[in-house]
Amino acid sequence: MPLPTVAIVGRPNVGKSTLFNRLVGKRLALVDDRPGVTRDRREGEAELIGLKFRVVDTAGFEDEDPETLPGRMRQQTEAAVRGADVALFLIDSRAGVTPLDEEIARWLREQDTPVALAANKAEGRAGDSGVLEAFALGFGDPAPISAEHGEGIADLFEALLPHLEPEGPPDDVEADDEDEDEDRPQGPLKLAIVGRPNAGKSTLVNRILGEDRMITGPEAGITRDSIAIDMDWPTIDGGTRPLRLIDTAGLRKKARVQDKLEKLSVADTLRAVDFAEVVVLLLDATLGLEAQDLRIADAVLQEGRALVIALNKWDIAGDPSSLFGGVRHALDEGLAQVKGVPLIAVSAATGKGLGQLIDAAFEVRDAWSKRVSTGQLNRWFERAVEANPPPAPGGKRIKLRYLTQAKTRPPGFILFGTRVDQLPSSYQRYLVNGIRKELGFGAVPVRLTLRAAK
Ligand code: GDP
Ligand code: GDP
Repeated sequence: MPLPTVAIVGRPNVGKSTLFNRLVGKRLALVDDRPGVTRDRREGEAELIGLKFRVVDTAGFEDEDPETLPGRMRQQTEAAVRGADVALFLIDSRAGVTPLDEEIARWLREQDTPVALAANKAEGRAGDSGVLEAFALGFGDPAPISAEHGEGIADLFEALLPHLEPEGPPDDVEADDEDEDEDRPQGPLKLAIVGRPNAGKSTLVNRILGEDRMITGPEAGITRDSIAIDMDWPTIDGGTRPLRLIDTAGLRKKARVQDKLEKLSVADTLRAVDFAEVVVLLLDATLGLEAQDLRIADAVLQEGRALVIALNKWDIAGDPSSLFGGVRHALDEGLAQVKGVPLIAVSAATGKGLGQLIDAAFEVRDAWSKRVSTGQLNRWFERAVEANPPPAPGGKRIKLRYLTQAKTRPPGFILFGTRVDQLPSSYQRYLVNGIRKELGFGAVPVRLTLRAAK
């Protein structure tokens, strides 16, 4: 079966080539600040969250004078749009909607090809108003994206999906059941350790780095104050797994320095979390769990990272079993959206529990990266909806059509149906909890987006 085709259309400098490169994954074209630098129509194969398609970068609007849309549209562009299953109309959300954008919009409306709209350069919210303005173009919700930073992929996927798979559930609903795991190779586990001052972070980092560990990479500076240390973590069966420790707070060096002026703010934590896949929140067992710890845990989950809690100084903790049970209970109460976050008792001082901690970190990363096939997902989904049908507000039934996993790391799902805007949040929680418990996502943050389907 031939791949469906997406033609990227837009005025000069909105980021068409950048998006093309991002989708195709190769640096094929020159990207330059000067308008009209890329002129040729280029084609490539793209994959977006498992959705494969051909992508065509049209440079046809970039005529000599970029401010006027030539009445005679370059034939190439016309041909590209005509031959495409969908025209991806790109605007620059920072610049807002320009007269040239409006002209292109008018032209696109005259074509038979359906249009999906994306507002580029939307990183860091600078383009918020441009994204809103773009509604007025009449092509529905613009997908806010940043081609340069690779953001908004799930939104772009949502915008394209209905046009590339117009018949509802994707083809693999009946097939492809074995394809459960993310096919992307995982690479080293990127781990960051956060916690209040004196929880034992430095001691733990130094313990993980212990003399006998093989440090495989030179310390790589990621930012001015963050370094990554690559090492091979030994497994029970005599092998090793690659581990990358992200040290943002300079924990490794600080071990014996009694410099405890640092405060643990949510901002500091988020800085550490930026480069990590899995975050270990270290608690001091002699102090237990405090509100500040829960705030940090919550911030880590909000950022979409996988979380493991380590209860440190176990060697000097009094009454271990009631302590452990108490912290477990407080965590499940305090982090209701992800009950069952792994909790491991450790002693950074003696090394107890360290292997278990790293194992747990690898395990949550697996769940965080996991992909379930649309077939498996929808078989579960049908049962879940049958067992507990959605309500009928005002006597009108909410019809839930199907569920698709739009992304991993962290897992994100899109639920298609009619009147989904009226789906109560309790019902959404019911589905999210089911996805986590019954499809093996464990205690990782799971996101659900609702999408109206005809
Ligand atoms: P084209 O003329 O539409 O093909 O646009 P290009 O891909 O050549 O991009 C034009 C300019 O916008 C370049 O300087 C890009 O680096 C920049 N650009 C592209 N995407 C983004 C983005 O997502 N954010 C920001 N801030 N700049 C971007
Ligand atoms: P940080 O501020 O989180 O980096 O904490 P440190 O690693 O500097 O540790 C704070 C204090 O707790 C130091 O005196 C450590 O020796 C002590 N400490 C750290 N881990 C343990 C542990 O597992 N058991 C005991 N008994 N003390 C620990």
